Amino acid sequence: MKKLKFQSQAGMNDILPEDQKYFKKVYEVVSEIADFYGFSKIETPILENADLFTTATGTATDIVKKQMYSFRTKSGDFLTLRPEGTPGIIRAYIEHGMQNLPHPVKLWYFGPFFRYERPQSGRYRQFHQFGFEVIGEKGAVVDAQIIQIFYNILKELKLKSLIIEINSIGDSQCRPYYKKLLSNYFRNRESSLCVECRRRLKENVLRILDCKEEKCQPVKADAPQILDHLCEECRLHFKEVLEFLDEVEIPYRLNPYLVRGLDYYTKTIFEIFSISEKQDQDSKEKELALGGGGRYDKLVKILGGKDMPASGGAVGIERVVSLLKNQDVRFKEENKVSVFIAQLGNLAKRKSLKLMDGFRKMNIKVAESFGKDSLKAQLNRADRIGAKYSLIIGQQESLDNTVIIRDMKTGKQNIVKFEKVLEEIKRLLKNK
Ligand code: AMP
Repeated sequence: MKKLKFQSQAGMNDILPEDQKYFKKVYEVVSEIADFYGFSKIETPILENADLFTTATGTATDIVKKQMYSFRTKSGDFLTLRPEGTPGIIRAYIEHGMQNLPHPVKLWYFGPFFRYERPQSGRYRQFHQFGFEVIGEKGAVVDAQIIQIFYNILKELKLKSLIIEINSIGDSQCRPYYKKLLSNYFRNRESSLCVECRRRLKENVLRILDCKEEKCQPVKADAPQILDHLCEECRLHFKEVLEFLDEVEIPYRLNPYLVRGLDYYTKTIFEIFSISEKQDQDSKEKELALGGGGRYDKLVKILGGKDMPASGGAVGIERVVSLLKNQDVRFKEENKVSVFIAQLGNLAKRKSLKLMDGFRKMNIKVAESFGKDSLKAQLNRADRIGAKYSLIIGQQESLDNTVIIRDMKTGKQNIVKFEKVLEEIKRLLKNK
């Protein structure tokens, strides 16, 4: 294909009109459920100081090391297009005095995010997420409730075969010891690790656990598992989360290799998948995660706030939309066009504009084709879009101050006075 003069950036997609219905539906379900669970919506800017992410997300993470879109502004500030939502929300929470509100503070968001990744199916450079954050609750029930909210949203969207993968990565009491144990284990087997994992061994040993390289799998299989090394508090917390999930019958499975990429997590972490029936549940070619999250008890303090526990997560909307299409999920048709106005000549056009205004006030959906002059072409279009009635205002009708109402199914026509047409259509639609 000939290269166009301008094209969208690799990995940055236009969301075309035909896909808007999916985004709209996701938004409707998310906002309804957020409202039910008592979350308030927050919108933070797309640009933030780059330091916010290096401090919160962590310097050794893929996001910060490889995936940030950053640039220096004319005044010398170093800014980043937000790669994830939580740091900006916690910044806003601290900045706007929300620490003084009664807790927990429950917030949700919906918007675009940016990561410089290799574009491929399900992985883009601009994508959208919705997410939930609960600040100020340390109980395990909140972790389970966040998972329940995501699960309910995806269920409400009629997605099938959902499963939660879950793990605990401990806290500052038990994780350092576990990391040391893991480092010792892998250091003794360094030659069996892939190049990337040898680097991880120095910088972020936990990330070796979620390496997908074939070479690393046998070494990983015998590595010490964090669940065997949690401190009492973390062990109890995790046990409770699982009990709550059992209680509400949310399907989950433990994944000892789940670490999530970010530095700020403590205790519970989770990811959500939809495993198609065709796939073996343990297949390595598991589909991409729909979402993920976890507890982050230290982040508020790290970003300059009080010592405040928190928990949250986010779901990728493009992946949800792609699954809605793959699973052939249909939504109820939106308010369809009931009436088509066909007209000839300027006087008729003026009358059409007036009629449209009247129908809008009555909440009756109307269409027209002002660009077409032939009545036949206009009625063809009325047929194609499935209008129940066409209103025909030709030159004669304009002069007589009348309108022809045509029943598009039977082809029957009758003439009414212009002033009566709104009432008449209302009556006809009611009886349909
Ligand atoms: P994360 O916190 O990185 O696990 O992201 C949460 C969710 O956002 C993922 O499970 C994906 O559904 C979605 N997501 C993350 N990165 C991308 C991307 N580059 N393109 C599309 N969706 C993404």
